Amino acid sequence: MRLLVVEDEAKTANFLRRGLEENGFVVDVAGRGDDGLHLARTVGYDVVILDVMLPGLDGWAVLAAVRRDGRQTPVLFLTARDGVDDRVKGLDLGADDYLVKPFAFSELLARVRSLLRRGPARQPETVRVADLELDVVRHRATRAGVRLDLTPKEFALLSLLARRAGEVLSRTLISEQVWDINFDSDTNVVDVHVRRLRAKADDPFEAKLIHTVRGVGYVLEPRP
Ligand code: CA
Repeated sequence: MRLLVVEDEAKTANFLRRGLEENGFVVDVAGRGDDGLHLARTVGYDVVILDVMLPGLDGWAVLAAVRRDGRQTPVLFLTARDGVDDRVKGLDLGADDYLVKPFAFSELLARVRSLLRRGPARQPETVRVADLELDVVRHRATRAGVRLDLTPKEFALLSLLARRAGEVLSRTLISEQVWDINFDSDTNVVDVHVRRLRAKADDPFEAKLIHTVRGVGYVLEPRP
C-alpha cells in the first residue's frame, strides 16, 4: 500500500516515513503543498497524510483540490492547533480524519489502518490465492496456515503479486509499485527481493506460486 505524506517539517516527515515503512507501507514525501497535490493527482495513493501549514499551497487548498477532482483517497490531516474551527474546516472540506500534533506514532498508525479498512471502494482486506492468504491491513501473510516471516519490502512485493495474481508484472512496474519515487530504479534489486521472498514463501511448500517469465518479469499464480 502506498501512502503520501505532505509535511514541510523534515524531522516529522522523516519520522513518519521511517515508521510507516517499517510497517510495510511504501511512502512518498512532499515538503510543499503544490508538490503534494501534483503527486496526489499523478500517483494512486491509498491514504494521504496532510499537514495544514505548508509552503506553496496550504493543506486546506490541497484537500479542496483533491476533492474537486473527484478523488476519494482517504485524507488524514495533521494540525498543530487543536482549535475546533480547524477540525470542522478540515472535515467540511472532505478530510476523513485528523490528528493534533504532537501525536504518538502508534495512534497515527491506528488511524491509517482504520482509514484503509473503511475507505470507499477500498481493496479487500484479505487476498487469497490458493493456500496463500494476506491480511493487507495488518501485513500478515500465511501459506496453508503457516505464518510467513517477511520484511516490509517482501510483504509489499508479495501483496502486489498476489493482488494482481495471474498477471505478468515487469520488473519496472514492480520497482515503481514497491519502492518509493526516490528509489533509483535498479531492477536487480527486484530480482534479489524476489529470490528472498521465494525462499520464505515458496521453497518450504510443495506448490510454487511465484514464477519467472523470461525477459518480462514475474507472475504469481497456482500452476498444476
Ligand atoms: Ca507545517
